[in-house]
Amino acid sequence: MSSLHPFLERLERRYPGFDELHQAVSEVARSVWSVYESEPRWLRERIFERLVEPDRVVSFRVCWTDDQGALQIDRGFRVQQSNALGPYKGGLRFHPGVNESIFRFLAFEQVFKNSLTGLPLGGAKGGATFDPRGRSDMEVMRFCQAFMSELRRFVSADLDVPAGDQGVGGREIGFLYGAYRRYGGHDAGVFTGKPVSFGGIPLRPAATGYGLVHFLRYALWEHDAALENQRCLISGAGDVALFAAEKLIELGAHVHSLSDTGGAMIFEEPLTKEDLALIRDVKQVERGALAECAGQVKGTWSPGGKPWAFPADIALPCATQNELDAEDAKALMAGGAKVVAEGANMPCTAGAVAILRDAKALFLPGKAANAGGVAVSGMEMAQNAQRLPWTSERVGTHLQEIMRDVHTRCVRNAGEGKPVDYVRGANVAGFLRLAEAVEAQGIL
Ligand code: NDP
Repeated sequence: MSSLHPFLERLERRYPGFDELHQAVSEVARSVWSVYESEPRWLRERIFERLVEPDRVVSFRVCWTDDQGALQIDRGFRVQQSNALGPYKGGLRFHPGVNESIFRFLAFEQVFKNSLTGLPLGGAKGGATFDPRGRSDMEVMRFCQAFMSELRRFVSADLDVPAGDQGVGGREIGFLYGAYRRYGGHDAGVFTGKPVSFGGIPLRPAATGYGLVHFLRYALWEHDAALENQRCLISGAGDVALFAAEKLIELGAHVHSLSDTGGAMIFEEPLTKEDLALIRDVKQVERGALAECAGQVKGTWSPGGKPWAFPADIALPCATQNELDAEDAKALMAGGAKVVAEGANMPCTAGAVAILRDAKALFLPGKAANAGGVAVSGMEMAQNAQRLPWTSERVGTHLQEIMRDVHTRCVRNAGEGKPVDYVRGANVAGFLRLAEAVEAQGIL
């Protein structure tokens, strides 16, 4: 009898209420378990169970004062999941909805994603309950300084290298890095996602969105299809969504939606480069809402809406976890979609994935499809260690090569049949490299 179910039950008992963690672990475990069980020594040494249990979870209080002088209290986290392949690596998320389960799931996913890139990177994730939206620059700076007063004990260029994620962009990374230096830190490579003026690498903000589109293109080619003229729906209006939209337009696809927490914007006529530039200004320079673009760009604003009911060929959920549920998946299939490429981490619920599988849609999981961000972060670490700046051409070429290699590893490990089972391919490829490394390093 398979040991999978007893393992999943034990995990549920040990971490009750960690729903996102159970969802992520169960998806990976179901794909890799037959490979895992085929090596008795891995089972004996409980390699998979050891990968699920983080090396350490740091959780701390963050006190700071707002512009009115009132004391605010937030919770900070860092989950250092595994450094079997290299320094812990993974983003920081500032969002009021985060909790330990979300960081545990993100860190677990990050370990497999980083393994899949082929780079020498372990996996981690962290952040805080702080919500930067609506906060002044001074408030964000004071929060970042207070957060770093604790996190600095756990990071360095060779130990743990955080980056941005939701709510953490160049401004936040700048404040965090400044605070780290103020406390005596001196490794330029301690953060990635830095502005280019002090050690950042060109294209890092674009890397995840661009890499997503490269991966999508390789997957379409694998299935004798092309990207040109495909109708695409995107959710989100952050870095991942906006740079994916930019690359899709550049490569001849048609973008028909974007969204944010306020609702969705549907572009009946494909989004133009000019309208995308205006939306980028509103969202990323003015830090405004997508709703403010209504009337200024050619699109229909749907307050509180999601984009998935509009007829399209390809969906790219690029906002957040579990944003696309079973009903949304049914709407997508009814609208003619044949491909779902995850830009965000785990944006599709388990119910949605089941519907996509039943419909034989091509499903590209975030672990593989959004690996471009961490791949370019790996290049930033190499650049910082070399103390030599990389050009954007070099980064762009290398990003494309890494996404091609990630795609090849997925196809090679997916088993027989079309459409390619990218979930199995990504999980098995990531696991095989990790299992070998964990086994070789002994029982720790
Ligand atoms: P941003 O914070 O820049 O953007 C997130 C966007 O999604 C915002 O427009 C936000 O709206 C919107 N959003 C958030 N929650 C919801 C929701 N429930 N419904 C609708 N829209 C929502 O984040 P990123 O673009 O950097 O990241 C997006 C996702 O991609 C995350 O899951 C992240 O973990 C993942 N990812 C990011 C990488 C990166 O390099 N940036 C790398 C790999 C994965 P609003 O503006 O209103 O807040």
